[in-house]
Amino acid sequence: MELVGKVALVTGGTRGIGRAIAQKLAAAGAKVVVCGRMPGDLPAEFAFIACDVRDPEAVKAMVAQIVVEQGGLDFVVNNAGGSPPAEAATASARFSERVVALNLLAPLYVAQAAYAQLKARRGAIINIASVSAVRPSPGTSVYAAAKAGLLGLSRSLAHEWGPEIRVNTLILGYIETEATDATYGDAEKQAAIGKNIAAGRLGRAEEVADAVLFLCSSGASYITGAELAVHGGGERPPFLDIVKGEG
Ligand code: NDP
Repeated sequence: MELVGKVALVTGGTRGIGRAIAQKLAAAGAKVVVCGRMPGDLPAEFAFIACDVRDPEAVKAMVAQIVVEQGGLDFVVNNAGGSPPAEAATASARFSERVVALNLLAPLYVAQAAYAQLKARRGAIINIASVSAVRPSPGTSVYAAAKAGLLGLSRSLAHEWGPEIRVNTLILGYIETEATDATYGDAEKQAAIGKNIAAGRLGRAEEVADAVLFLCSSGASYITGAELAVHGGGERPPFLDIVKGEG
């Protein structure tokens, strides 16, 4: 298997996309550690460490624990993220700070804590961003800004920390998880959203995990500072149908 002998940390690996990533890396032979604030209902194949990734001291302690218990660290997948919607006009300073902390600063803290290990073992960092970073995202403006910041951080770290450490970002479209109905509405709404995507449907968490596995693998040895869109081709611009009178 491709990742036998490697150790991977997947932040937010207890559910959703992170869990699928953890499963895929474990299936490829890696020892996988996941973190979250709560353990959730995890299979025994993953080691779990409780850690709020917004806390830099807790992150340092988590990475130190991984090195002691697993013998090192090769891959960091900065997946923990997200944001409830909030109107920008009235979002509180505390809310905005916490969204930036989770989606931008936490990936930096984890990367910093893992830097020495990843450098010594020629490892890789995969940051999980969103189409919200590259198109307007009304209602989640702060999240969009934080994820856009993550793109800039990744490009810069690729240079600061290369050639030993590769740093790449996935730009995710709409991905099915346990929370899909809450995020994207019922099956009818999801089908309507899917019709507007080139691939004809929402993405699957396993498909994101496939991209992460590729970026960890030796097949991606010359890929760093890159952004890979896993968004099924993105959405058809609505103006096309409006112009045709069908919108
Ligand atoms: P979920 O909300 O389903 O899972 C989030 C995970 O992150 C959980 O394991 C959660 O565990 C953990 N987490 C949340 N806050 C923290 C924290 N402060 N410290 C440590 N762990 C934390 O998210 P998704 O699977 O939907 O999304 C995963 C990533 O993909 C995110 O970065 C998101 O922005 C991105 N994305 C998702 C899309 C989608 O359609 N699902 C679309 C575009 C991007 P716990 O609550 O116990 O801490």
